[in-house]
Amino acid sequence: MKNYKDRDKKHLWHPLTQHGLNPDHMPLVSARGSYLYDEEGNSYIDGISSWYTCMYGHCNPTITSRVKQQLDQLDQIVFSGFTHPPAIELSEKLVEILPSGINKIFFSDNGSTSVDVAIKMALQYHFNRGEKRNKIVAFENAFHGDTFGAMSVSGLSVYNGPFEDFLLEIERIPVPNDHNIGEVESRLKTILQEEEVAAFIFEPLVQGAAAMHMYPARHLDVLMNLVRSHGTLAIADEVMTGFGKTGRNFACDYLDEGPDIICLSKSLTAGIAPMALTCCTQNVFDAFYDKVVSKGFFHGHTYSANPLACAAAIAGMDLLATDAIQDSIQRVSARHLEFEAEVREHPMVRSTRSLGVIFALDLKLETERYGNLRDRLYKFFMDEGVFLRPLGNTIYLLPPFTISTEELTDLYTSVLNCLEMLNND
Ligand SMILES: *Cc1c(COP(=O)(O)O)cnc(C)c1O
Repeated sequence: MKNYKDRDKKHLWHPLTQHGLNPDHMPLVSARGSYLYDEEGNSYIDGISSWYTCMYGHCNPTITSRVKQQLDQLDQIVFSGFTHPPAIELSEKLVEILPSGINKIFFSDNGSTSVDVAIKMALQYHFNRGEKRNKIVAFENAFHGDTFGAMSVSGLSVYNGPFEDFLLEIERIPVPNDHNIGEVESRLKTILQEEEVAAFIFEPLVQGAAAMHMYPARHLDVLMNLVRSHGTLAIADEVMTGFGKTGRNFACDYLDEGPDIICLSKSLTAGIAPMALTCCTQNVFDAFYDKVVSKGFFHGHTYSANPLACAAAIAGMDLLATDAIQDSIQRVSARHLEFEAEVREHPMVRSTRSLGVIFALDLKLETERYGNLRDRLYKFFMDEGVFLRPLGNTIYLLPPFTISTEELTDLYTSVLNCLEMLNND
């Protein structure tokens, strides 16, 4: 008895879904490389790497074999009081590639909890040093996740109504560009002088949920420099950008200033298992190091540093370091730039941007006139055998590093077909 669609409806409650409007969920039964497969064997190119997780392709045998090995060795243990080789190896490999100065690794389960951990770390860092700092600075249109702390610092959550009274105290500043950087800088200066600011949190260079909005590293350097001169901690949320997507290992690698804390998840485990890391400097760690119990960081999750997830992460990092993957990242980045030049002048395109394997274009049309544009585009692409999730007026691509040149061309062709379809409206 298959009948997945009907059985799904009986008991399952899907994330980010109004079931009254979208009752149907499409069953997918397998995935391999760049492709997702449904029950009938139809294939769909995964143009967004399943929300930026499966960057080495689905069911990559290099990764699954490492996880299978680990599965017969050590499945799960308590990470308070115990440690294990995969966690240790992961920490060593990671510290080698993290921005300099970051050398302590704290585990949690997903991007949102990595942000909550970072916020709690920042608040207690100051508390332990005898300072009460109660404000966090964050960008407008930021997205940092859906748990309470992460939701508080997110500026994008339009559906926060029921929770607003319970959120943290946030000061919001505009995302800098060449025109407003002076204003943003002086606004931040005022906030830092007038408020007790514990931390500044940001998505470095690319705001994913804000339709892949991009901003220059040099402006972020100015803000980080300012923040750090006030003893405020800089938290880089690299949950989306981490592990090669921007063309370098981390978006922070484009900066002169180093963050105090970095949040990582999504492609950390190459799409195999949920896991997240909040990584910090020795200085942050030292503020918790004491003989007094209460100065410790009393935060923990049952599955912290799950050995299977750690094995997947190690395998992912090993792949990331290979010439094959680094060459692929360069190949996809270069093709994105060519495609960008090709579509920039299309009558339906307002603007384009790309960085590393991230490409986005804004459509030149009034969304209101198109009513349910998102659903229409989504369906158009699925009918073309391509899985994309357009956001508002924006179509974006974030394919696996391992996507072949032909598959990439198929993605671009679908985007061009979509532009033609809209042009013929
Ligand atoms: C996806 C995302 C999160 C939240 O991660 P989850 O694993 O979905 O909780 C946080 N920050 C950024 C930048 C993200 O892209």
